[in-house]
Amino acid sequence: MVVTTRPSALVADRSWAAAHDRLIETLRDLIRIPSINPPPPGGDGETRVARYLEARLRAIGLQPEILESVPGRASVHARLRGDGTGGDPFLLLSHLDVVPAPPDRWTHDPFAAVIADGYVYGRGAVDMKDMIAMELAVVERLVAECRAAGRDPARDPIPGLRRDVLFTCTSDEEAGGLPGIKAVARERPDWVRAAGALNECGGVSVTILGRRLYPIQVAEKGYAPYRIHVSGTWGHGSMPRDDNAAVLAARIVDRLAAPGPVRMTPVMERFLEVTADALPGDAGDVLRRVAAGDPDVDRLIDRLCDPVYARALRALIRNTISPDIIQTGVKYNVIPGDAVIEIDCRVLPGMTEPEMRAIVEERIGPDLLPACRLELIVWGAPVESPAEGPLWDILVATLLEHDPDAIPVPVLAPWGTDAKTTVPLGTPTYGFSPLRLDPDERFLDRFHGVDERVSLEALKFGLPVLYDVTRRFCG
Ligand SMILES: [Zn+2]
Repeated sequence: MVVTTRPSALVADRSWAAAHDRLIETLRDLIRIPSINPPPPGGDGETRVARYLEARLRAIGLQPEILESVPGRASVHARLRGDGTGGDPFLLLSHLDVVPAPPDRWTHDPFAAVIADGYVYGRGAVDMKDMIAMELAVVERLVAECRAAGRDPARDPIPGLRRDVLFTCTSDEEAGGLPGIKAVARERPDWVRAAGALNECGGVSVTILGRRLYPIQVAEKGYAPYRIHVSGTWGHGSMPRDDNAAVLAARIVDRLAAPGPVRMTPVMERFLEVTADALPGDAGDVLRRVAAGDPDVDRLIDRLCDPVYARALRALIRNTISPDIIQTGVKYNVIPGDAVIEIDCRVLPGMTEPEMRAIVEERIGPDLLPACRLELIVWGAPVESPAEGPLWDILVATLLEHDPDAIPVPVLAPWGTDAKTTVPLGTPTYGFSPLRLDPDERFLDRFHGVDERVSLEALKFGLPVLYDVTRRFCG
């Protein structure tokens, strides 16, 4: 698709400046409401954020709705009307909750939303109250345009919109979304059923060897945590046993922790291909060797990337197993007869839970497997949306227009988001919360990290991109 118009260019720069200032204040308001997940006893942070947004939406004449399936854990939604000739709606999706932020090592109070050195500091600054603030700013702008045309945004279509725009913010994304996206999908599927959705974790620039890539999240790995019950024989510590459950567990963990074989998926093949073409020098050749399954793949990746990205890339080309809990033993002189291991398995697109289980069993090995019983804790299937079609083309074209050096590239994410629920509902969902970052930014470290922060300049870039994407997909 060729996109030739520039909607944001039609609006004077001064009004963008005002919208930007307002966006920063919205973000600071949102950070100052700690919507920590898991909530403290009696905590209602998510509902307070939802109520804040409800008030803002009501103030501009919309009719927002709240779904509070569990007290204190609300989700919020509003709909802008198009004229209905353009098909199914467009969804601006986000989550209200943040992970905890013990303040000890932070430079600034994580819930004070301090502005320093050109950044807004605070828990949620990038995950993902920045995107909520940008999405709200897009909604406010569309409403202002509606009013300027003499229409009522609660009733009338927004001028130029051929499909509805949905604004939906959920609770509990950080812990599986049972009272959030899953309750919304069950009770109010019309809040999230759309021809396309934008969500967190993509469209953020990453500079590698001087080239500015914008990975757009089109797919997510699945998750399959297992509890492995290991049976040995109880005994006296003075007479060691081979079937000491602690010893068996240690062997099992050792086998599971080894990196598994590389398994290339179409989305990662394309990621590596586009990135290889973009990078200078021999970096492209190195990535092509990674894509081709070179047996030396991990060493190649370490040579090419800094440790943060190397760890991510290694995880994206395999089904991963991380043994994260071992429990066993009661006293130093008692040989334990039982042990429990909990492992976090992340599953590539195209894989099923039984296939992942078979991998775990094979890795444990026929000698140790008879001592084990595997219990699946929860299953979240991998999801994938097409890296092609009208919305994809608009994401790419709009990024290129706002940053001519942009190299947009589809990517798989090692984590899960609310897309786990929206994609199976038939809503292609893209991680696209556009930010243009300084080349030395360590964005992946900001997620859930100490001194989480987002730069004012990055937000200034993101807002018109998000607005233009919305206008174009709905126009
Ligand atoms: Zn998030």
